[in-house]
Amino acid sequence: MNICVDCDKAIQSGAVVVAAGHSMSGARPDMYAHALGDEACQPRAGSRGDQLRRAMAEEAALHR
Ligand SMILES: [Zn+2]
Repeated sequence: MNICVDCDKAIQSGAVVVAAGHSMSGARPDMYAHALGDEACQPRAGSRGDQLRRAMAEEAALHR
């Protein structure tokens, strides 16, 4: 079972990896979060997962 980094709840379905590729050493396990728009997820503003997602979104935009 995966725990969402945004809301600390178990993810029933649609988990997305939010930290893959951020640790090339593999020292850190992947971090999971609910899929964007999942009504079960109510992320805290400024949470770690929220910040990661914002960073990933910006990075994805740069490489688009
Ligand atoms: Zn969540």
